[in-house]
Amino acid sequence: MNERTIICLSCPKGCRVKVKANGDDIKDISGHECPQGIEYAKNEYLNPTRILPTTVRVKNGQIALVPVKTASPIPKEKIGEAMQKLSEIEVEAPVELGQVIVNNILDTGVDVVATRSIKEKN
Ligand code: SF4
Repeated sequence: MNERTIICLSCPKGCRVKVKANGDDIKDISGHECPQGIEYAKNEYLNPTRILPTTVRVKNGQIALVPVKTASPIPKEKIGEAMQKLSEIEVEAPVELGQVIVNNILDTGVDVVATRSIKEKN
């Protein structure tokens, strides 16, 4: 039986939730102070995902980098590969807030979008 402690990030309390499991078969969850902690711990144990915030190079922009993020969480194991892909691309200014920078990154079904606008260089 595996035992893992997961810190629930669903609210600022940060409960330490213990998951006991045989492989993917979860046997017991404890330490949560509300039902949200059960869902959080299950997802984090079986299929951890993260929003990826990073930057992408901008060509002819007033600043050289635009902050971007995945529009929703992607599998944690794909974060490194997604960072690598985003480090290799460059977008042309102007960039609009919310503009899709990469469509369906790594076939996750999730777009990467700009989190601010960048004007063209004068
Ligand atoms: S288990 Fe409930 S109370 Fe505890 S951190 Fe998660 S959401 Fe907050």
